[in-house]
Amino acid sequence: MSYGLWFDAHAKKHKSIIDKLLACGSSKEQIIEYFVFENMVKNEPDFCPLFAQNKKCHAMQELNCYLCACPNFRFDDEGIKKVDDKTQYSYCSIDSKEGSLGVYGQAIHQDCSACTVPHAGDYVRKHFDLDWKKIMKNCR
Ligand code: SF4
Repeated sequence: MSYGLWFDAHAKKHKSIIDKLLACGSSKEQIIEYFVFENMVKNEPDFCPLFAQNKKCHAMQELNCYLCACPNFRFDDEGIKKVDDKTQYSYCSIDSKEGSLGVYGQAIHQDCSACTVPHAGDYVRKHFDLDWKKIMKNCR
């Protein structure tokens, strides 16, 4: 799946959960709490493919799924730049020291597997907006 397809599909899933929570009168803090991994696995099994295995994307005790993927992620399915004979499709805009670039054949992609920045509750609170696409507006 391309970045763009994933991005649009995820935005829809996120919005449908937000709409449901708002209809119940949930507050900002209740919405953030709802997106804690343990609750999401139980109540939103289709939100992430890892939920079927009850598996976290990062080994952290309190993992919040609200800002998956990450507001700092940048991508272009057409390619951002050429690096020698390879094409780079994504990168981290804050150059997080926990992130890295991975080479996969002729493609270079941002590897966030060791970075927990967007999954901390305090980070979610700081960047919170009900509209996921607004928070992620610079990603594409
Ligand atoms: S490396 Fe971390 S901060 Fe950078 S895009 Fe990935 S998850 Fe976000």
